[in-house]
Amino acid sequence: MEDYKRILVKVSGEALMGEEPFGTSPSGVSLVAEKIYTLHQAGKEVAIVTGGGNFFRGIQQVAKTGLARTPADQVGMLATLMNGVLLKEALTHLGCEVRMMSSLVCPTIADPYKWEKAMRHLKRGRVLLFVGGTGHPYFTTDTTAALRASEIEADIFLKATTRVDGIYDSDPRKQAGAKKYDSLSFEQVLEKKLGILDLSAVTMCMTANIPIKVFNFYEGSFLEALNSPSFGTIVTG
Ligand code: UDP
Repeated sequence: MEDYKRILVKVSGEALMGEEPFGTSPSGVSLVAEKIYTLHQAGKEVAIVTGGGNFFRGIQQVAKTGLARTPADQVGMLATLMNGVLLKEALTHLGCEVRMMSSLVCPTIADPYKWEKAMRHLKRGRVLLFVGGTGHPYFTTDTTAALRASEIEADIFLKATTRVDGIYDSDPRKQAGAKKYDSLSFEQVLEKKLGILDLSAVTMCMTANIPIKVFNFYEGSFLEALNSPSFGTIVTG
């Protein structure tokens, strides 16, 4: 079994919603924080990229309202900051030492993203929150996660989803006979255009040779996601 030490976790906005239809719920935020806390307590170096889809997804607002893409995406990126602030609080409450770095300049809330500092925080055992996406429109937080995972030389990228329990050959919510994969290569995900992950995120992880584990956020712990081969789907080189 691989011994993954440095972990990049992508937390989607939906995980923070809990039972609510929109935004965050205290139970959703606590559950995310507890899962991260357990991983950290197990001696892992943990960095997190927060999503923002629980508040705002740029492209959906463009379709709905006719807003230009760039301001719509800017609001989406700001949503990732709100999630980061709440998650930081919850993690601090559990006793973690947390640092938050933002790609958007917002110094009263988060430190500006700086690679050297990020590496130092991880080596010192601090939980690191990356917020603000890439700081640029036309990206997603999956791609942000792949980018930051590459920069910090993460051993694995954990993608916890709230919708499915791994990667399937077709959408299991629509196709009764959909088949789940335990493992796939980066090339297979790209060739088959398996929609669970942004293809740009997959390409980036392939270049940096960082495995991606896709699994259901509500099933088991993040440690199980790391250690159990049949839990979710692993994408490797
Ligand atoms: N976003 C962006 N650039 C980035 C990351 C995110 O413009 O580098 C915007 C984009 O509008 C996206 C929104 O932020 O829809 C929220 O991110 P995402 O949809 O990835 O969140 P999740 O679905 O994971 O909660």
